[in-house]
Amino acid sequence: MALQVNSRGSDVTRLQQALQSKGFDPQGVDGAFGRNTRTAVMNFQRAQGLTVDGIVGGDTAEKLFGSRDRKYFDGVSDFEGGGTVTSPGNVTNGGGWGGTERVANAAKSIAQQMGIPVTSQKRNLADTQRVGSSTSSDHYTGNTNAFAVDFGVSGSRGTELARRIADQYGIPRSNIGTFNGHNVTINGERYRLQLLWQVSGHYDHVHLGIKKL
Ligand SMILES: [Zn+2]
Repeated sequence: MALQVNSRGSDVTRLQQALQSKGFDPQGVDGAFGRNTRTAVMNFQRAQGLTVDGIVGGDTAEKLFGSRDRKYFDGVSDFEGGGTVTSPGNVTNGGGWGGTERVANAAKSIAQQMGIPVTSQKRNLADTQRVGSSTSSDHYTGNTNAFAVDFGVSGSRGTELARRIADQYGIPRSNIGTFNGHNVTINGERYRLQLLWQVSGHYDHVHLGIKKL
């Protein structure tokens, strides 16, 4: 199934964001593939020398997302409303720390693809004090139902990483740069996610904190 007029959902939202970022304005990002999105797709296809049919399949996806992976254009939503991950893709839970440890894996794989290193995960009390962190941090080993991971990165690559993590987990991009948490349900378990970038103390790394609720 390709994306076309009347397609809806997170794949369409991502499509509209990608079109917008490449200068082909779909006249709004609303997750509904209508006439304006079709026009933007056709303009993009024309500019790329693709078949101009207004339908997003593998060739158009490759130019837009750098990937022919069907997840970009199969029309199956990655997330449904309320931050519920109903079709987890590679976001899953389990492992240690109340099942939070494995929730971080999808972010780690994005960072790995980008060549960005993990610089910190769980920290004992001595390390917590050494780095000037707090015992309320998801990093602290005393918080046994939480996990956190830091990715050492700065500048525009940090922004790109934070956005890709946000999109993968269904965290609103507007949460990036705030301390707001975002609750998600993964395989029936509730977690509070916190994505920190370009807020106090987070200019040289992207932080993803995960707490079991
Ligand atoms: Zn951190």
